[in-house]
Amino acid sequence: MSVIKKLTKASHLIDMNDIIREGNPTLRAVAKEVSLPLSDEDIILGEKMMQFLKHSQDPVMAEKMGLRGGVGLAAPQLDISKRIIAVLVPNLEDEEGNPPAEAYSLQEIMYNPKIVSHSVQNAALSDGEGCLSVDRPVEGYVIRHSRVTVEYVDKNGEKQRIKLKGYNSIVVQHEIDHINGIMFYDRINEKEPFKVEDGLLLID
Ligand SMILES: [Zn+2]
Repeated sequence: MSVIKKLTKASHLIDMNDIIREGNPTLRAVAKEVSLPLSDEDIILGEKMMQFLKHSQDPVMAEKMGLRGGVGLAAPQLDISKRIIAVLVPNLEDEEGNPPAEAYSLQEIMYNPKIVSHSVQNAALSDGEGCLSVDRPVEGYVIRHSRVTVEYVDKNGEKQRIKLKGYNSIVVQHEIDHINGIMFYDRINEKEPFKVEDGLLLID
């Protein structure tokens, strides 16, 4: 059975065993565009990817299924070389522990996402980045665009255009890198991993 057939079966829940790790050549390939209109298989795969992210952020399910928490997943990480990403960025509770009014600041399945414009300013997460396909810590600032405009096709087959900044911008750029065969540590300055170039925005 092909990987996509297995992962899109109604009974299948994506878990860490479905995620390939660095060293696998699929993570270094430029993934293929998804054909439009979207196939049922590609729609279901996107939904399964989003379901994985929800499980990974749910303490009970994550424990039960042995999942690392994640805010984004790209199809190549499942050994499927297609331009599909899912992002799920939760809003934090406030200082008193009250839940946020909106659960997520970004929740989207994107087909053929593309950065169509970006800021001159660069940004990096002050704590660096991690990846579900990388089982080791890699320290350093991952230099990205501070703000991006992204075009994509949504799960309903409609063309969308969104502007992103801050953490959401970083997450989407990390996932779009995956469909282009780029790993987060490719963007860390090898000689000076914590170098703060002029104008670099550090995001907490
Ligand atoms: Zn990753």
